[in-house]
Amino acid sequence: MTVLIPILGDQLSPAMSSLEGVEPEGAVLLMTEVADETRYVRHHKQKLAYILSAMRHHAAAMRDAGWTVDYVRLDDPDNSGSFTGELARAVARHSPDRIIVTEAGEWRVAAMLDAWQTLFGIPVEIRPDTRFLASHAEFDAWAERRAELTMEWFYREMRRRTGLLMEGDKPAGGRWNFDKDNRKPAHADLLMPRPLSFAPDAITRDVLALVDDRFADHPGSLDGFDWGITATDASAQADRFVAHALADFGPYEDAMLAGERHLWHSILSPYINSGLLDPVDLCRRVEAAWREGRVPLQSAEGYIRQIIGWREYMRGIYWREGPDYVRRNHLGHTRQLPGWYWTGDTDMRCLAQAIGQTLDTAHAHHIQRLMVTGNFALLIGADPAEVHRWYLEVYLDAYEWVELPNTLGMSQFADGGLVGSKPYVSSGAYIDRMSDYCRGCRYDVRQRVGEDACPFNALYWDFIARHEDALRPNRRMAMPYRTWDRQSAANKMATRAQAAAFLERLDASGAPY
Ligand SMILES: Cc1cc2nc3c(=O)[nH]c(=O)nc-3n(C[C@H](O)[C@H](O)[C@H](O)COP(=O)(O)OP(=O)(O)OC[C@H]3O[C@@H](n4cnc5c(N)ncnc54)[C@H](O)[C@@H]3O)c2cc1C
Ligand code: SF4
Repeated sequence: MTVLIPILGDQLSPAMSSLEGVEPEGAVLLMTEVADETRYVRHHKQKLAYILSAMRHHAAAMRDAGWTVDYVRLDDPDNSGSFTGELARAVARHSPDRIIVTEAGEWRVAAMLDAWQTLFGIPVEIRPDTRFLASHAEFDAWAERRAELTMEWFYREMRRRTGLLMEGDKPAGGRWNFDKDNRKPAHADLLMPRPLSFAPDAITRDVLALVDDRFADHPGSLDGFDWGITATDASAQADRFVAHALADFGPYEDAMLAGERHLWHSILSPYINSGLLDPVDLCRRVEAAWREGRVPLQSAEGYIRQIIGWREYMRGIYWREGPDYVRRNHLGHTRQLPGWYWTGDTDMRCLAQAIGQTLDTAHAHHIQRLMVTGNFALLIGADPAEVHRWYLEVYLDAYEWVELPNTLGMSQFADGGLVGSKPYVSSGAYIDRMSDYCRGCRYDVRQRVGEDACPFNALYWDFIARHEDALRPNRRMAMPYRTWDRQSAANKMATRAQAAAFLERLDASGAPY
């Protein structure tokens, strides 16, 4: 009796549900590096290197733990290039009686898994992914009871369920959410905590050479690749975060500083999403730091909310909304992203910083993604499907189940307000308040019209005017419309002409990457 257990590239944990109750004797773990997965979008080179290296290290760890691992490398001449093709070859090699697999993380791969039983005539058991707190059915049951799918209510249920930061049935500190105490701008600080840097070992060096050779046309650079690639690395990075950065995570969560890529963020999303780090275990470490008096509650709560709140909630939305979610385009946006989204070559300093660091490291923190690159894409009216593709390509932590609702829903308002109750748009004033980008920029953040005016300013008011029919009825947009209404006709005309001229120049500035 042989059971074949495919382990997908984001299932790199010995605690996967597919392994539960299975003994290593009589089981074969199948791990495959397939061309289809490396090419369905042009993933950042570091993203490819990270996944391939983490897979190879995980295979070695599972072998050490006594499992038989059948591993197919990308450069294996017989590699068919697809999951299903590799499963067919593995079925021929091992003649399994059954296949057990943990459910896929996205619709595209889930459809493949669903077809396997009919295709191979062997029982295929697809198990829920128990790394998440809420199953699809539980999220749907929660959503059915709600008129609006507000994340905060879902988060409170997850707090009650896990007992994280709870005192009996009450939230620790008497409040569920300490966001009001956060959102401070930061100042350059020589003692700012730095994430650990992991020197590539022989396996990673092999993978870097492979990626360099085969994926030269993909965005980003491999220079300075220093991501951890094992569970031990991920755990060390988590310890470093809890010890040195967590205390200030809350207050400076939304801050941005030129040249500072990480600030007080954890830089753990790639490890959590690929399976190297367990999200609830991480939250328990964070809670312990607060209970031991090492970090303030506002930071521990803010951090835990991101994981058991936002992360779980986004996954619930992704699966609930179905495979057509990706086609939503509530505001009817069609513009192509400018080619410099793939080079960082722009004189707008905030964008040059956010995109430049993205290309260098395959990472940017939340406010850079939401209020710089996302904000600009929404203001210019970029096609949300194309914006989605960009985010999926360039970030190391990007998997569709989490990237799509963040991009299409939260950032681009393309789902009409399902995820975010109003569009996340701002003029340059927000960026100026939360960062030091504007001080060194060629544009003047205080000007709306003229050659030196910050482009975000006219674009913001043009967006407000352009989408009046869709957005004026939204109560949360009342303030911008009151301000717009108070402006003189001449002011409005000049603002819109400034935006139109900018967009014309943008469209003429060259084809996308
Ligand atoms: C347009 C856009 C696209 C995004 N795409 C992705 C993506 O592809 N993959 C991804 O993991 N996150 C994505 N995010 C969410 C967030 O930006 C990243 O999780 C975060 O920047 C990762 O860095 P960090 O580990 O230092 O996070 P921290 O700031 O330290 O936060 C801690 C953890 O909370 C979780 N988290 C925080 N915010 C979110 C969120 N909005 N949704 C889901 N989880 C969250 C992550 O696991 C993160 O590691 C996106 C956000 C936006 C606005
Ligand atoms: S002035 Fe405008 S374009 Fe320049 S950094 Fe500030 S917000 Fe960005």
